[in-house]
Amino acid sequence: MTHKNFKNIDKVTYGRGSFSQLAETVAPLRKENKNYFIYIVDNYFTGKPLSKNLQNKPEDLIYFVDVDRYEPTTDQIDTLRDEILSKKGLPSGVIGIGGGSIMDIAKALSLMLTNEGSSTLYQGLNLIKNPGIYHLGVPTISGTGAEVSMTAVLTGPEKKLGLKCDWTVFNQVILDPELISSVPRDWWFYTGMDTYIHCIESHNGLRNNAFSLAYGDQALHLCREIFLNDKAGQTPENDDKLMVASLMGGLSLTYSEVGVCHALSYGLSKIHGTRHCFANCVIFQHLEDIYPDGVGEFKQMIKKHKIELPQKLSKEWSDETLTKMATVSYNLSFMWNHALGDNYKEIATMDYIKDLFRRL
Ligand code: NAD
Ligand code: ZN
Repeated sequence: MTHKNFKNIDKVTYGRGSFSQLAETVAPLRKENKNYFIYIVDNYFTGKPLSKNLQNKPEDLIYFVDVDRYEPTTDQIDTLRDEILSKKGLPSGVIGIGGGSIMDIAKALSLMLTNEGSSTLYQGLNLIKNPGIYHLGVPTISGTGAEVSMTAVLTGPEKKLGLKCDWTVFNQVILDPELISSVPRDWWFYTGMDTYIHCIESHNGLRNNAFSLAYGDQALHLCREIFLNDKAGQTPENDDKLMVASLMGGLSLTYSEVGVCHALSYGLSKIHGTRHCFANCVIFQHLEDIYPDGVGEFKQMIKKHKIELPQKLSKEWSDETLTKMATVSYNLSFMWNHALGDNYKEIATMDYIKDLFRRL
């Protein structure tokens, strides 16, 4: 077995108000390339106070990006890259301010600015040829772990798969819990549950180890304080904790692996366009036989926060649709292997996976 050799974020700033240190953080980098920065900012912030405090210089290019219509696509990255290079040449760096979608756009863009051709060529592990440029992430919604992961998930014509390599990882993140206070309650819950599910799946499988368990245990402890215990709820104290839980949950799965819920989630998202964190919640509620304790606790959190998840979705799905969904999931063999053991191929057959989807 090969042991993972994971590239971590180079630098991390954490604390309330730390976003105000953005300008000074990037100042030394401005001497690189064509001396300007690209900002990729979640469209939600258009007209909000944060958009007046971007600390940009006049030469910087700012893009407000709508992430609600669809998750980041290969086309979107290619078009943006071509436009930026033809307008001003190679930037000093890319700054992404937003959730998992925006952070993935920033990560992918930093790589595609120095790699020729379409991003579809590089969907997979270690396919990128040249290091990207400096990139900095500022999460404004917490849970996916995209701030720490080595992947930039893109939906292409054929695959929903990340640009995965050491150079994908951010050079710097700024974790300012004040920025997540405006997240709507339902998204707060779904995205937070992504962290919770990362930890449950990381723990329950072949690949866990003292390293992944230590991060996962701490993230689970924080999740219980944020979503389950007496002081649970969307408070400033809990926002402080959620930002850390998201990062630690991401590190836990990095040193281990995700499992059945994520394998199914990619199938659901690819075929129906369901958003990652919401898809996980829709699926996880039905996996009590696979993750009994995790799903039990998840249901308590659902009840506590009066979250209603859709039921009986599969009634609308033909056998052909189920086959398409199951094919996407089936191919994520490393997740099935981790979750079900070395004889996973005998268990996770196409029929078994289709039956799991029929539970939804
Ligand atoms: P998101 O970026 O898709 O945003 C969700 C919603 O929250 C959007 O409507 C956005 O405008 C809004 N929002 C963001 N910040 C806000 C704020 N402070 N106040 C109010 N609204 C705010 O959310 P996400 O769940 O963080 O990311 C999902 C994406 O992340 C998917 O595209 C998925 O593929 C990707 N993902 C990536 C990784 C990775 O490791 N790279 C892991 C999991 C998921
Ligand atoms: Zn996830």
